[in-house]
Amino acid sequence: MLTSQAVIFSKHGDPSEVLKNHSYEIDDSNVESDSIIVKTLGAPINPSDINQVQGVYPSQPEKTTILGTEEPSAVGGNEGLFEVLKVGSNVKNFKVGDWCIPSQVNFGTWRTHALCKEEDMTPLPNPEQSKANGKPNGLTINQGATISINPLTAYLMLNHYVKLQPGKDWFIQNGGNSAVGKYAIQIAKIQGYNSLSVVRNRDNLDQLVKELKDLGATQVITDEDNNLKEFGATVKSWVKDTSGEIKLALNCVGGKSSAAVARKLNPNGLMLTYGGMSKQPVTLPTSLHIFKNITSAGFWVTALTKNDFNLKRSTLDKVVQWYEEGLLKDAPSVESKFTGEKQLNQLFIDGIENSKNGKQLITF
Ligand code: NDP
Repeated sequence: MLTSQAVIFSKHGDPSEVLKNHSYEIDDSNVESDSIIVKTLGAPINPSDINQVQGVYPSQPEKTTILGTEEPSAVGGNEGLFEVLKVGSNVKNFKVGDWCIPSQVNFGTWRTHALCKEEDMTPLPNPEQSKANGKPNGLTINQGATISINPLTAYLMLNHYVKLQPGKDWFIQNGGNSAVGKYAIQIAKIQGYNSLSVVRNRDNLDQLVKELKDLGATQVITDEDNNLKEFGATVKSWVKDTSGEIKLALNCVGGKSSAAVARKLNPNGLMLTYGGMSKQPVTLPTSLHIFKNITSAGFWVTALTKNDFNLKRSTLDKVVQWYEEGLLKDAPSVESKFTGEKQLNQLFIDGIENSKNGKQLITF
């Protein structure tokens, strides 16, 4: 028997009150033919995971007593990297030692081990396999554990809706220094698209601009610049120099900032809203709708990839390849290892509280 420890919730609310520990046994001497047992290598804490526990996120895991809890409960967490420990006799896609991530959200990744069907997991190459395939780099635990949300969001927003012409066209984004924003900058660079990233002003702005330019940003400006009418001419001259258009705006802020990025779009441009960091409604001037035919749409990676698994797999393959080739840098996480010294639920509760200091990754 293998003992798994999981961080569960049976009701919604403040994570420090509702997240509990639960230990349960997995019979590792008797694995069903189509099942696998996996060990968790790392699981991040994303804003959506916290919102799920609080009960304010539209996608929710089913609460059941399948793990032997007294009340119907769900295991927290949606993203995570796992290593295969055991495989059933009929399992086709996995062998012991392989790495994998959940095929869908709501798997419940905040646990030490899991027993699941093979189709519940999607394979990723482990470092030995990458090396054997002649790749210069293998995935790190952080890259594997955080691959399915932020990098996929950036890639799909840049490629799934509007055809940007390499070397010519541009996209504009607010929250340019967000994790998604940094992936968007790098992926655009790899694909030859120009990026215009808007960030909030700060004392060390030069340092931030340098960091984003080192990642491949074409231009980085502040909110103040973006709000200035006169600055529009500078942006127009940049775009004219590449003989392209700003066809796409990525909005994770909302409010005044969404209006300011939408104003930079060329006629018939598209603004995709994927986050609401300012907690303000998306604002889009009426004249942009009417006279420039600007479209505003939402983007939710969960819904898009749930309905189209092939799209998820092919996008994962691209991101893995870029990591292996050293073309893409991951967003660093603050890592805390589960050693048993601190209870597992406390490790996640502390991680949630520390989330304002950067993405938290619990490793095992
Ligand atoms: P990060 O925590 O890495 O970045 C947050 C960004 O928001 C920073 O650029 C920060 O800028 C900015 N920001 C924070 N508060 C404000 C504010 N009040 N006004 C303006 N800007 C602000 O976040 P992620 O990249 O992980 O996620 C960004 C957003 O995207 C989140 O809302 C997340 O939930 C969402 N998301 C949505 C997905 C989808 O499918 N729809 C998928 C992935 C993420 P500063 O440094 O100036 O504070």
